[in-house]
Amino acid sequence: MFEKEMETGQNAVIDAMRISRTVQKELTGADAITKADKSPVTIADFAAQAIICKILKKHFPAIPIVAEENSDILGKPENRAILEKVLYYIANDEKAKFILDKDNLFQGIDLGTGEPTDDIFWALDPIDGTKGFLRGEQFAIALALIVNGKVQLGILGCPNLKMGNRGCLLFAGKGGGAYVLDSETNTRKKVGVSTITVPEKMRFVESYVSSHSNMDMQLHIARVLKLEQDPVRMDSQVKYGVLAAGQAEIYLRIPHPKTPDYREKIWDHAAGSIIVEEAGGVVTDILGKKLDFSVGKTLANNRGIFASIPAVHSRILDIIKELS
Ligand code: AMP
Ligand code: MG
Repeated sequence: MFEKEMETGQNAVIDAMRISRTVQKELTGADAITKADKSPVTIADFAAQAIICKILKKHFPAIPIVAEENSDILGKPENRAILEKVLYYIANDEKAKFILDKDNLFQGIDLGTGEPTDDIFWALDPIDGTKGFLRGEQFAIALALIVNGKVQLGILGCPNLKMGNRGCLLFAGKGGGAYVLDSETNTRKKVGVSTITVPEKMRFVESYVSSHSNMDMQLHIARVLKLEQDPVRMDSQVKYGVLAAGQAEIYLRIPHPKTPDYREKIWDHAAGSIIVEEAGGVVTDILGKKLDFSVGKTLANNRGIFASIPAVHSRILDIIKELS
């Protein structure tokens, strides 16, 4: 199912990975704008969103795209230099130069301003983990297809998550398993979650940005489990990728005490969660509820996120329950 969507989506994410890698290599301090919610947006967010949306809309004109960014801020006179740079990177990319230019860039970005529907839509985070991207560290390009409120396919481009000697693209379709794509040979390889059963040996990943989750409680849980290693911090849905590939067992995102009413965004979890599930992992919120992608742009019915492997999921849910 959704084979054409999968193939087109992968190609679009690969294009965005190439551009974002080039931008990240050449980053300067002036390449980001701070949005009204204080989060940063970069040249790469705009370029990646525009190219992915253009490609998806060409092949699937009727499917709305719900993406994180829009072009408003890019049109402001004070952001002229950023706009010029987005156009520069597009003009110098082998594929984007045939698809985008100064006359359709804003339109391309705003193809991503669709709304969730009960029927079918794409969820896109063009650069997830922008802060990691700016630090030269982990980030992900995350695309998912949501049908009747359920994630049906997920694609995660992770330019800095090394599998072999280069970054990787992970993907999964509902019921079909999770895979990593070797872009050099264009072959796919099945991935699966870790089969470790001894809790002490398990590896724990969490957000790099300390305000995105309750790191004190997460460390406490790691201690209760007597983990030999402290949690490892990394940005973006790369955390899901690491779990799916069997390189970690636990990803906890307990709401930060200062933002108890924060609701997770669908584009931050749709692609990553299906990839972990299809790799044999378990993804719920911190109360053990399944993630509900049927209620708009946020996971309004869920609290936090908890992904892990079957061997330890219910045990950790019990620990969380005891602590709250
Ligand atoms: P990560 O790199 O895993 O911390 O995830 C980055 C994402 O965290 C961003 O794309 C934001 O949408 C999201 N975010 C922003 N503020 C919060 C918050 N207070 N709690 C949880 N997530 C947040
Ligand atoms: Mg994000």
